[in-house]
Amino acid sequence: MKDKMTRKEFFEKCGLFSIGIPFFNANSWFFKNSSLNPKDKVIIIGAGAAGLTAGYLLNQKGIKVEILEANTMYGGRMKRTNDFADFPIPLGAEWLHVKKSVFKEIVNDKNVEIDIENKPYNYDVDYALINGKKRNLKKLGFTIDQKFINSTWFDFFERYIVPSIKNKIQYNKVVKSIDYSSDKLIIETVDEKYTADKIIITVPVKLLQNNSIQFKPKLPDKKLKAIKNVKVWGGCKAFIEFSEKFYPTVTGFVDVPEKLGHKLYYDASYGQKTSQHILGLFAVGSVAEPYLKLKGEEQLKYILNELDKIFDGKASKNYKKHIFQNWTDEPYAKGAYVHYFESWRTIRTLGKPVANKLYFAGDAYTNGSDWSSVHAAARSAKKVVKKLVG
Ligand SMILES: Cc1cc2nc3c(=O)[nH]c(=O)nc-3n(C[C@H](O)[C@H](O)[C@H](O)COP(=O)(O)OP(=O)(O)OC[C@H]3O[C@@H](n4cnc5c(N)ncnc54)[C@H](O)[C@@H]3O)c2cc1C
Repeated sequence: MKDKMTRKEFFEKCGLFSIGIPFFNANSWFFKNSSLNPKDKVIIIGAGAAGLTAGYLLNQKGIKVEILEANTMYGGRMKRTNDFADFPIPLGAEWLHVKKSVFKEIVNDKNVEIDIENKPYNYDVDYALINGKKRNLKKLGFTIDQKFINSTWFDFFERYIVPSIKNKIQYNKVVKSIDYSSDKLIIETVDEKYTADKIIITVPVKLLQNNSIQFKPKLPDKKLKAIKNVKVWGGCKAFIEFSEKFYPTVTGFVDVPEKLGHKLYYDASYGQKTSQHILGLFAVGSVAEPYLKLKGEEQLKYILNELDKIFDGKASKNYKKHIFQNWTDEPYAKGAYVHYFESWRTIRTLGKPVANKLYFAGDAYTNGSDWSSVHAAARSAKKVVKKLVG
């Protein structure tokens, strides 16, 4: 049984869930090390990588769970579009920064076969052009990074995580306040009230910085200090289609001090089964500001001009179309992610639960060993679920 079915499936098969027998009680083995009681309800705020992972894993354990998402769609900063090219375009998270085994880690079910294709760079052939000089990608830090082929991080979640929790996600629910002064926690949106026994908060930390959610009582001073001090980079991405490929795998700039952010152009069609030549622009931190300040034609002119200088006017000549994603202006992100040089202590403080009632998961709420990525967000959610379920 253990190998073939999850516990929940087994109990469902036996009809124990469907006929409503309260099979678990507070003393049952399942909840022995848990801070949850069997009838407890967990509300998750946000349906990005962390919220979806937490919801999926809690549901897998048979815990009552509800996800409140401000947007009209799940995914958060893994946003994807299928309308620009003949392969999916990741408008946020693009690369897999760790080993592929992370997919299995998230799915947490050895019976599920994961069919997601990733492609690492070929260091013998692919290179970067940095201020006109050819440079080795490995030396520039592209070591384990892999592209998704004909899929994205979003697709992984859409295929393997969302199906079992689709009906637990409620959209257009912008959480405004959380009252955790008594045992029944109260969450308020503009016009609705929800009660929960535990809450998992996964909203981007910039929104807490902007006081988008009011807490009663206020959060502990240490937490507030970490929220106030954490540095979140703004950022954007653009995808530009050209009629010819005139650029290498990566085009970078040496005059960008690392602490100011990152900016690069890269072959977004790399490894895809496509004849479309799509160049990506990725910019976070203060180096993203020139792009973020401009709009429409001016913005396009700036980008093409920058490329024309490097590639002898070939950008303007071969331009077909483009899309631009401004993460700083996204109402429920308000930035790209916490910068890589943040102190791990700050991140760890952000990730700590409050009063055994409020739990934090997401790319800025980890244990301080890793942050600002999809895998870090998902892993932090897994840790919170472990803490809750035991
Ligand atoms: C430009 C860019 C490029 C990136 N590239 C990569 C990459 O290549 N690889 C990688 O691993 N990572 C990358 N990342 C980082 C990655 O996207 C994030 O770390 C990850 O998606 C964060 O997941 P999360 O669940 O913590 O937060 P989010 O995805 O932001 O999810 C939070 C959710 O909370 C919702 N929400 C916000 N406020 C409220 C509210 N008041 N009430 C209810 N819901 C609310 C939001 O709508 C959102 O859905 C990139 C990010 C950006 C912006």
